[in-house]
Amino acid sequence: MVVIQSHIIGYCNGVAHVIEMAQECLRIANAKNLPAYSIGWFIHNPTVVKRFVAKGMQCIDTPKEGSPGVALIRAHGIGDPLREAFEQQGFTLIDGTCGIVAYSQRLIRKTPESNHVVIIGLPGHSEVIALSNVYNAEKQIVPVHVVASEADIDALPDFSNEEVLLMVQTTFPQTQYNNLRDYMLFRYKNRLRIGNQLCPNTLRRHVAVLDMCKKVDAVIVIGGKMSANTTALVHLVESQNLPVWHIESVEEIPSQIFSFRRVGVTAGTSTPPEDIDAVVDALEKGEL
Ligand code: SF4
Repeated sequence: MVVIQSHIIGYCNGVAHVIEMAQECLRIANAKNLPAYSIGWFIHNPTVVKRFVAKGMQCIDTPKEGSPGVALIRAHGIGDPLREAFEQQGFTLIDGTCGIVAYSQRLIRKTPESNHVVIIGLPGHSEVIALSNVYNAEKQIVPVHVVASEADIDALPDFSNEEVLLMVQTTFPQTQYNNLRDYMLFRYKNRLRIGNQLCPNTLRRHVAVLDMCKKVDAVIVIGGKMSANTTALVHLVESQNLPVWHIESVEEIPSQIFSFRRVGVTAGTSTPPEDIDAVVDALEKGEL
């Protein structure tokens, strides 16, 4: 079997940053003899998370779930009221928010009151939650509408001829985003202002996967089952009519893969390099 890896694979800048911040969080907590926390899991990869749990980090969603300590803000960010609640309870916060997400939050924060914010994204995704809970200068939550389909856009109000700021969850699938952005333009015409863009790291990764797909007969995608960007890679490969398996670790390699001559390997932005190496080694050796 020939194994061809996508030329952009593994950690993006935002994930590399938050992992550094997680180490910093543990270091400060240990030095001060305080508990270390992650506010929601800081990335969607169980292997990485387990390593930090083994070193004593606990996952909490609210400050009521633990005594004050040092708490890490995940790469997707958190909303302002939650940040404030942790600070008021005496937690020290280590900010692992990806710069791209922090920029999106700043754009929403500065939106004039007369404008309306629409976010293209998956309701419930942690980045969308962070973007939906931003204070303006008067410390009021900026109201937002989250849409994920043309039907959602049809259900939006007309906004009385006022301007509409269009934001996007930075890892939203590109084709779907383009279609929904065009539909928003069709509906709101010159009242629509485009705010942020899709993450360039994600876009480059998608181009690399499409390039790899031209050279292989089947694909393995490595990454957390909860990871939206990993799942988007799986859908991208499916769109190329290739057989694809989404696995989290070497133990999940399907036996069927060994019947293919050329196998492509790619991974989500939160997949550690050692997990990728283990899968590539096993495929090249032809054994599980
Ligand atoms: S995928 Fe992009 S936006 Fe998300 S954490 Fe990575 S660099 Fe940041």
